[in-house]
Amino acid sequence: MRSASLLLSLAALSACVSSGALPVQPDCTAGAVQLYSGATCVRTGPSSFVLAVRPESEPINPSPWFAFEIETREHTSATVMLDYGAFSHRYQPKQRLAGGRWQALSPDAVEIFERGGRAELYLSVPAGRTAVAAQEILTREERAEWNRSFADRARFRLSEIGRSVNGHPILAIEAGSHLDTAPLILILGGQHPPEVPGTLGLRKFLETLAQEGGPLLETHRVLIVSELNPDGVDGGFWRLNSGLVDLNRDWGPFSQPETRAVKAELDRLTQAGARPVLMLDFHATRQNTLYTPRHEASLDPPEFASLWVARIDAIYEGVLPHVSAGHNDERPTAKVWFAEQYGAPGITVEYGDETARQEIDALSVAFAQALVAVLTDRE
Ligand SMILES: [Zn+2]
Repeated sequence: MRSASLLLSLAALSACVSSGALPVQPDCTAGAVQLYSGATCVRTGPSSFVLAVRPESEPINPSPWFAFEIETREHTSATVMLDYGAFSHRYQPKQRLAGGRWQALSPDAVEIFERGGRAELYLSVPAGRTAVAAQEILTREERAEWNRSFADRARFRLSEIGRSVNGHPILAIEAGSHLDTAPLILILGGQHPPEVPGTLGLRKFLETLAQEGGPLLETHRVLIVSELNPDGVDGGFWRLNSGLVDLNRDWGPFSQPETRAVKAELDRLTQAGARPVLMLDFHATRQNTLYTPRHEASLDPPEFASLWVARIDAIYEGVLPHVSAGHNDERPTAKVWFAEQYGAPGITVEYGDETARQEIDALSVAFAQALVAVLTDRE
């Protein structure tokens, strides 16, 4: 019923645009109920809108990020049709509540059409400005501030190791041993902007490492670059950086300043004697997954991923993530490059798009505790 009326109103809208015979609806950002978004918006009624959700470039991974804000003077209901073009609805829409907490819309507030090509959201919005998005909105500024605040709280060293295509700082945090020759762990995150569960997981992982990682940090050096793609976050991109390159296909080509910044920092540290022993790269996908190296026995430390997963299993009370060896082995990902370059394990840590946020936290605590236990060989 609602889709039929929407199509009618769309037809009416286009008819009035062409004939000029009917009153034209105000712009999305005018009137009593307003919608603001980076996506192209068409108003179809006093409080109903269509948003064209489109990627920054194609071909691209089907990660249809969307975000918008609705502004209203009084509490109202509003409908927003997300039109994905050739792509399909993927993320459970979330609304920011007063106080800042995000809550997923209930399933009956989301109606899917055309096998996912369109999704209509039935929203209840309080007076003021309310954000709705594919995942929690973590802006570039908020992410940079988190890094500064975390480094400060943990008494880790924060530095700028380069700039993005658009000139935003790429921040690195260094923790642990000051010895030039200490074994080096590389922690990466933020390559793909919509993968917010990866960012939330990485934050909890780092907080746990700071609180409980003492024995590991005495012997190891840790280099953390948690926000590799500030431009993509700024742009509401699905996947790429401002150079329209998938950064996790640029480890080897190093055609982009973001990946080059990490490479240069690793070169600097290894030339001073550091020995890279492990890389963890935080992402999100459809389910909790650990992408581990295909040939574990040939890497040093040998069988790290197996030992780590076994230790996670011993610590974590929930369902263990899916473990997959050798995923994307033919592609220039950070994981593959790290293993080839240093003969050491690289692991891609993926959280599920809709994994409960408490489960993300609990898993991340287990990841960090298991890492400390395996690398310090504690029972
Ligand atoms: Zn990713």
